[in-house]
Amino acid sequence: MTPENGQPTPADEKRLVGSVPTGLFIGGHWRAASDAGTFDVHDPSTGLVLASVSNATVADGAAALDAAAEAQRSWGRTAPRERAEILRRAFDIVSARAEDFALLMTLEMGKPLAESRGEVAYGAEFLRWFSEETARIAGRFAVAPDGRSRLLVTKRPVGPSLFITPWNFPLAMATRKIAPAIAAGCTMVLKPAALTPLTALLFAEVLSEAGLPDGVLNVIQTTRAGAVTGPLITDSRLRKLSFTGSTAIGQRLIADSAHQVLRVSMELGGNAPLLVFDDADLDKAVDGAMLAKMRNCGEACTAANRILVQSGIASEFTSRLVMRMAEHTVARGTEPTSKTGPLVDEATRQKVHELVTSAVQAGATLASGGNVVPGAGYFYEPTVLTDVPADARILHEEIFGPVAPIVTFTDEEEAIRLANDTEYGLVAYAFTRDLNRGLRLAEELDVGMLGLNTGIVSNPAAPFGGVKQSGTGREGGIEGIEEYLETRYVGIADPYAP
Ligand code: NAP
Repeated sequence: MTPENGQPTPADEKRLVGSVPTGLFIGGHWRAASDAGTFDVHDPSTGLVLASVSNATVADGAAALDAAAEAQRSWGRTAPRERAEILRRAFDIVSARAEDFALLMTLEMGKPLAESRGEVAYGAEFLRWFSEETARIAGRFAVAPDGRSRLLVTKRPVGPSLFITPWNFPLAMATRKIAPAIAAGCTMVLKPAALTPLTALLFAEVLSEAGLPDGVLNVIQTTRAGAVTGPLITDSRLRKLSFTGSTAIGQRLIADSAHQVLRVSMELGGNAPLLVFDDADLDKAVDGAMLAKMRNCGEACTAANRILVQSGIASEFTSRLVMRMAEHTVARGTEPTSKTGPLVDEATRQKVHELVTSAVQAGATLASGGNVVPGAGYFYEPTVLTDVPADARILHEEIFGPVAPIVTFTDEEEAIRLANDTEYGLVAYAFTRDLNRGLRLAEELDVGMLGLNTGIVSNPAAPFGGVKQSGTGREGGIEGIEEYLETRYVGIADPYAP
């Protein structure tokens, strides 16, 4: 255990990383890759190697699906209470080891420890929420309208599922899929992001300790994502693909899934607008903008990508935001003062910097920041841009970094038009004291989620997901388990027929 709320020492870091399994987890056993290959996992705050993990081959991917397919029949028949209790035990273990999970995420992904602790609480809550949902999977029985037959509707597990997850929330993006799949009775193959596999590996160990039977969850980290998962997606034993990641990869995976009409859940990119109206409580709006922008170092699909401010308060809002961004300390995530850690790698940092420089070239004003932080690690200054031209790339692409572009609008009609001017539709945020306006926005904005006077919407008890090119399907809430259930109807002859 690492010290709660204290600063971990290098020895704590070494001991924790050294305790994490590094093999592939297939059929309940840890094993090396079939060609004994490995790849390195780096600390983005230093660029140094943290650990080497097994690098799954195509054959390892096939072995993982073999294990999942073999375990499906017996796992699908387990009592709901049994599955619920495995999830509940896993929740207890993750909660007890919260400091280990938090430190591990900070080390492999970079976010400040306080944020990692928040993700552990959020990610663990999916285990508890779905342990409670397990016992409520229900069907229905009806007399047919003409009275001449009976209708029995049941829910069954979809079957073996493939999960592909991103690096930005290494624990929560996995538990958001794994917990409802366990609840529903599905077996799984998980391919975590190559940048952050350690958290998934520690979590697999926890699930095993919680009593998850062999073969129900298989983990195949690899640097050959397409080559290893491609054959699984076209294998007739796989029944479901759930992907969280970029829209570009999601589109390819949907096309590949058409081959055998796989059920898919897609949690893809976002371009969230954050709207601040003249009548907003400015303190709350600035707090909300900071949270929606800077949570997870800006590396979140839900990050406020465009800050749309009504002209009457634009100058006051901007100066307050600039002040708050200046107070946001950039430091390694293990430092108690850190409010923003490094970006996950150099490519991500370069993309952020390119978006900023091209916005400035297009006419935007740099109100603060705008520079790569020199030295080790992939740090970037918290940045505010104003007067951003409508066609600047930064307003149309995911920034995935600590950069806030501000655009002004004059009235509600214009705000809605600007907010909807994107192919994405994950989430929007709006700050206003006018209840009717809030309700109008809830109807007019083309998004799966709206934060009203709040800069955060994620909640395990709520359905997370987007519309348009932000994806399809929902994770969390009572809706989340439906992604892993099939509906079966049994027609029954009239029991009174002669
Ligand atoms: P990404 O490049 O799309 O990668 C996501 C996952 O897909 C990784 O595990 C990656 O493996 C894998 N992958 C890459 N190419 C693949 C292929 N050809 N076939 C199968 N799998 C493949 O996205 P990212 O950069 O990791 O994550 C950032 C993106 O995720 C952003 O767009 C963000 O908005 C989105 N996101 C969405 C949500 C949501 O709920 N809507 C939540 C979090 C993040 P490697 O690691 O080997 O590349």
